[in-house]
Amino acid sequence: MMEHNLIEEDFDNLSCPSGRKLPNGWATLTIDTSLMSKEQLDKLFQAEQLLLDIGVHFDTGYGGGGRDWELDWSLSGATLTVRPMECMAGDCKSVAVSVFGHWQGTSKRIYAYTYCSMECLRKDLANKRKSGWILLAYEK
Ligand SMILES: [Zn+2]
Repeated sequence: MMEHNLIEEDFDNLSCPSGRKLPNGWATLTIDTSLMSKEQLDKLFQAEQLLLDIGVHFDTGYGGGGRDWELDWSLSGATLTVRPMECMAGDCKSVAVSVFGHWQGTSKRIYAYTYCSMECLRKDLANKRKSGWILLAYEK
């Protein structure tokens, strides 16, 4: 039997005996159900069942107008990779901390873009407006 010295080992390459890699972060995915029809809600629950059928399981919850998928220690059958958010203004690429812009693109989908500063949000505002994007809201 091989002995392990956890202090000297590379934690990135450490895996548990079941073959699951250790997570590098946890997340909660909240799906806004407040405006969903009964048919859309049924599809959401079908999607959860389909994932379960192929062996992907995680805790779920319901509250505050959203369906929560807890991608935490309860996740099995899949892995979660967490990356830092980068500023989405041009080629800034600084780590974005707390400025979010909620945009509606020409496809009418709503996107949450992250920025490192209000200055970068304003810079992106000018560029996106030219392309038909609408800034719905921002929060710090
Ligand atoms: Zn920036």
